[in-house]
Amino acid sequence: MKANELDGYRKSLLAEKERLSAALEHLHAENPGAENEDALDLSSLEQHLAEVGSITLDREMDYSLEDVVQRELGAITNALERIEQGSFGDCASCGAPIAHERLAALPWASLCIDCKRREERS
Ligand SMILES: [Zn+2]
Repeated sequence: MKANELDGYRKSLLAEKERLSAALEHLHAENPGAENEDALDLSSLEQHLAEVGSITLDREMDYSLEDVVQRELGAITNALERIEQGSFGDCASCGAPIAHERLAALPWASLCIDCKRREERS
């Protein structure tokens, strides 16, 4: 991967990390049962997480938004580490390069689409 491409991914990862860290701070600052949830813009955050598709928001499951944000932050941190190690953009399972379109949508993706589909089926 070219250095300028890598740099672009690093920038979007850092921006996303900042956004999620800020969201997490809001979640921590909030008192349970506080009325003013709108101020936190949680629904738009949830929608964002669902749109980027990295995490399935399963309404049947007892997930908390904080868990979801933590998981995504973990994935972003891993991706930043892979950039440092020079393995960014390679599938963690089969080693094939991950498609640029996939990385553009999900810069923290660690699996190529084939391995991801295989994982989801199993
Ligand atoms: Zn793969």
